[in-house]
Amino acid sequence: MENVDDELKNILRDTSKLSSIIENSFDGIVITDKEGVIRYVNKAWEKMTGWTREEVIGKVTPRILKSGEKSQEFYENLWKTITSGGVARAEIQDKRKDGALYDTDEIIMPVKGGAGEIVGYAGFQRDITDRKKIDRMKTEFISVASHQLRTPMTTIRLFVELLSSEDFGELNKDQKEHVGEIYKATKRMIALLNDLLDVSRADSGKLKINRESVDVEELVQSILEETKLITKSKHCGIHFDVPGQKLPNTYTDPHLLRQIFRNLLDNAVNYSNVDLCRISLKLGTEDGFIKVGITDSGIGISDSDKERIFTRFFRAENAVRISPDGTGLGLHVVKNIAELLGGRVWFESELGKGSTFYFTIPISVE
Ligand code: ADP
Repeated sequence: MENVDDELKNILRDTSKLSSIIENSFDGIVITDKEGVIRYVNKAWEKMTGWTREEVIGKVTPRILKSGEKSQEFYENLWKTITSGGVARAEIQDKRKDGALYDTDEIIMPVKGGAGEIVGYAGFQRDITDRKKIDRMKTEFISVASHQLRTPMTTIRLFVELLSSEDFGELNKDQKEHVGEIYKATKRMIALLNDLLDVSRADSGKLKINRESVDVEELVQSILEETKLITKSKHCGIHFDVPGQKLPNTYTDPHLLRQIFRNLLDNAVNYSNVDLCRISLKLGTEDGFIKVGITDSGIGISDSDKERIFTRFFRAENAVRISPDGTGLGLHVVKNIAELLGGRVWFESELGKGSTFYFTIPISVE
C-alpha cells in the first residue's frame, strides 16, 4: 500500500514538472489515488466545477460531482472498467459546487506505476454544456415534429388502405399500381417517424425501463420466429448458436432488449447480399454479463466509416447503395438502450467480408 502511495507521489511530482501544460489545459484534469480520493486538480477543473483545490483534495470525486443523472449501475460499471486497467469514456452530467448542472465528455483511466500496477486514476473532463443544449433543442424539435406528422400520416395510410381494398369502387390496373406505391411510401414514412420518435426518446432520457425476469434464449427464439418473413425475402439463413448451458434469467426490459435484437438482425439482413446471406447469432455469458454476437457475411464497414457508425443519421456509402431506404438511426438507438440497460455495444468488421455486432447486458436478479 505504501509503495503504491509512493509511486503515486512520484507521479504527482512528475506531474508538477509538467505543471504549466497540465495547469493551463482547457480540459479539467483530476488525479485520484486508488480509492478515488482526489490528490490533484488543475485550474480548468476548478473553474468548471466551482470547487477550489483546497476544498476537494482528500475528497472522493464522484461523490462531489454526482448529479444523480446516471444510475448507481453506471458508476459501478465505470469503476469495474478502470480498476481492471481499461479506459472509460462517457458523457456525464455533473453538478457544480453551486448546484448548477453541466455536461462533460470524460475520459477516465488508470495511472500506472513503474511495474505496471495501478496506483491511481486520472480523469479528463471537457465541458460540452453548450453543445448538449443545442442537441437537446434538436431532440425536442424532432420529437414534436414527428409526433405532429404521425397523426396525418396514419390517416393517409388508412384511406389508402380503403382505396386499395376497393371499398370505394373498383380500380383499374394503373390506379391499383399507383395506390400500391402510395401505400408503400406511406408505410416507409411512418416507419421513419417511429424511428425518429425512438431516437428523441432515447436522447432525452425518456426511455422507461420496465424490468422483469427474462429468459433471453426464449426471447431470441420468438424474435427469430418473427423475423422469418424478412429473412426469407433475402434467402437468409440465420443460425442460432444455442448456448451449451441454460443461461440464467436476467432482470431486464424485454421490449427494449427486443428492439436491440431486431435492429441488429435487420441490419445483418439489409447489409447482406441476396443469396449470400449467412447470419449467425451467438449467445453466452462473460464476467456477469450476457453477451450476444450477431455475425453476417455482408458488405462490411470500411475503416474510415467505423468511427461514425453509432452517430445519428450516419449511413455509409456502401450501405446506401445496397439498401437506399435506411435512416441511420437504428444503431444510435441500440447504443442508447444497451447503455441504459447497463451494457454496451461494439462491432468488428471488414469491408466486403462482413461484420459482427456484439452487445452485453448485465445478469441481474430482482
Ligand atoms: P440504417 O440501417 O437505417 O442505415 P443504422 O443506424 O442501423 O441505420 O446503421 C447505420 C449505418 O451503419 C448503416 O447505414 C451502415 O452504413 C452501417 N451498418 C450497420 N449495420 C451494418 C452491418 N451489419 N453491415 C454493414 N454495415 C452496417
